[in-house]
Amino acid sequence: MIRRQDIRELAQFQCGEGSALSFYFQPRTPLNKSHREEAILAKDLVRSALREVDKNGKGKSARADLDRILEIAERLHGNQARAKAIFACSQQGFWREYDLPPRLSGSSMAVNQRFHLRPLAAILGTLYSASVVLVDRKQMRRFALTLDEVVPREEIKAELPRRGRSDGFAGYDAGHAQRHVEHEAMHHFKAVAERMKELYDTGVSANFIVGCRDETWPEFEPHLHSYVRQHLLGRVVLEPSTATAEQVREKALGVLTEARTNRCEAVLREVLGQAQRNGRGAVGLKRVLRSLEAGEVQALLLGDRFSAVGVECPNCGHLELGTKPECAACGHATRELSDLADRLIAIAVANGIDIIYYEQDTEIDRVGNIAALLRFRSDQSTTAKLAS
Ligand SMILES: [Zn+2]
Repeated sequence: MIRRQDIRELAQFQCGEGSALSFYFQPRTPLNKSHREEAILAKDLVRSALREVDKNGKGKSARADLDRILEIAERLHGNQARAKAIFACSQQGFWREYDLPPRLSGSSMAVNQRFHLRPLAAILGTLYSASVVLVDRKQMRRFALTLDEVVPREEIKAELPRRGRSDGFAGYDAGHAQRHVEHEAMHHFKAVAERMKELYDTGVSANFIVGCRDETWPEFEPHLHSYVRQHLLGRVVLEPSTATAEQVREKALGVLTEARTNRCEAVLREVLGQAQRNGRGAVGLKRVLRSLEAGEVQALLLGDRFSAVGVECPNCGHLELGTKPECAACGHATRELSDLADRLIAIAVANGIDIIYYEQDTEIDRVGNIAALLRFRSDQSTTAKLAS
């Protein structure tokens, strides 16, 4: 799997000669039911990139990499479970290969000065995850759930009730033993709740789903820490001792998907409302570019139909819409960008800005397929901020 720090590394990469290769393979698209064709298409993409390199001699050192990618593409087939991405530049000895969730809009091949990152927006935008915590009186089992997979992570067993010397005396001691069991169960629930708080505090898990039997919930729920409770996406009924990973996925995925959809919609609504009030929302490319440069952006909202050409200043990094030969900020000659989205994603990843990706969403389409939730607005005074 690709992590944010991997994408950050890709975003920083530059190759003056223009032989940075980005190859994406999407095994199947909903529109293309024939798996075979996808694999053929991928090979054709590499072959035509090879022909381009041979024809104009530009990016000559890319040839070795393209041969190697073609070899890999020849082994790909359309019904594999994962998508694939390869980033390479032999001139600088760079080669990275990643398996990805099959969420790309299609296969593609690009040869340029920088890596083509736009297809990763669909992946980044769906890196939504939760810890599924199965709990009963005797144990806790935790699974990491994403929209694409479920992975068992840890187990905690409750300490077994210690048997004292008084065992065997019926009556008083039976009651005593029962209280002891209750005490151990409570102790265990506390330990599980404590562990969940730790997972949240250390950034391992931002969301939780609890899986338990109905009768367990009222016993366990009071022990949950308040901010774990705030990030509890839901509860599902599961048998904690025997549930398989597949059963966990089946029950919990709906909760996760719904939570993600709700969050995407809520953020977009918030941004549109705030933008109208001149608050913490920016809509449209021009405004978003300005906010990015001012360091105001908390989350970047990108629609799948976003498309824009622009220029970048190699001297100061200033980005502009359209094709201006000189940088508006420093006067240096600019460089053309065929897809501004690549740079926007690079900036977002480098600055820890969340990317939220919208597929076939008419709301974001209406504002040019780009918007941003702002942390603050630098053009407003403190009093204005407090008032909004
Ligand atoms: Zn400049």
